[in-house]
Amino acid sequence: MFANLSKTQGYFIKVKCPFCNRESEIYIDKEEIARDPSGIIRIPIEHETPEPHLLVIDIDLHGFVRGAYLIRGYAVLEEIPVFAMINIVGMENFAKLLCWLLAYDNVHIYGFDQELVKSLRILLAYIFKGRKKLVPEEKARIKIDVFNVPFLEFSIDLIIRRLRFAIDRVKDSRSLVAYLRHEIGKYLDCLQVFEKVVNETAKRLTIRDLIQITENKLRDDEVKFLLAVLRAKGIEVEKKVTVPEFKITEIF
Ligand SMILES: [Zn+2]
Repeated sequence: MFANLSKTQGYFIKVKCPFCNRESEIYIDKEEIARDPSGIIRIPIEHETPEPHLLVIDIDLHGFVRGAYLIRGYAVLEEIPVFAMINIVGMENFAKLLCWLLAYDNVHIYGFDQELVKSLRILLAYIFKGRKKLVPEEKARIKIDVFNVPFLEFSIDLIIRRLRFAIDRVKDSRSLVAYLRHEIGKYLDCLQVFEKVVNETAKRLTIRDLIQITENKLRDDEVKFLLAVLRAKGIEVEKKVTVPEFKITEIF
């Protein structure tokens, strides 16, 4: 994998897919990367043959590929009109919804468009790998109108950026659903691990320690996001984790 640096607007990046061997050339706007607080953007690249799959790459401001992974095995996935659904509820509402479900269990969702809510439940159950996040109204601790999702105690910028990028780049609804499921699934797994580690640790941890615990699956900004999620859940993150490069108020 290599990138040609263009001095003006952006980069052309050539990436060879390890699964289908296809070489894709993609254009990346430098400003897009500069605007991203992490200085790295994550781009899903869609390939159709021999079966639908995604090559996901992280690129920094210098045009270096900082990470790459494949998402496969969703060829049999039924098509869910995910683009239309996000369009109807709005991207910000959808992003907030994902964050509520990342942080909390026993959530009931509702809205004036019953058909849409029904489809959203199916979509979210798939994205959250069937973990019992959504429940019927009578069992719910949190009730959310999907057309007016409340703000969370933490910044959802990271999820908004992921979503915006994926929507811009991905064309096939199955690919988008598979991508969201992969990213959200990773965060759910890491949240579980972090919660245990933060609760049980006797020594102060650093962001680096936490990245190592996840076998380098996460970047700094993702770890900080997940720490903010844990904090919203009432876990005393500040007492256990040192984040030297930022003041604690900036992170949360
Ligand atoms: Zn490929």
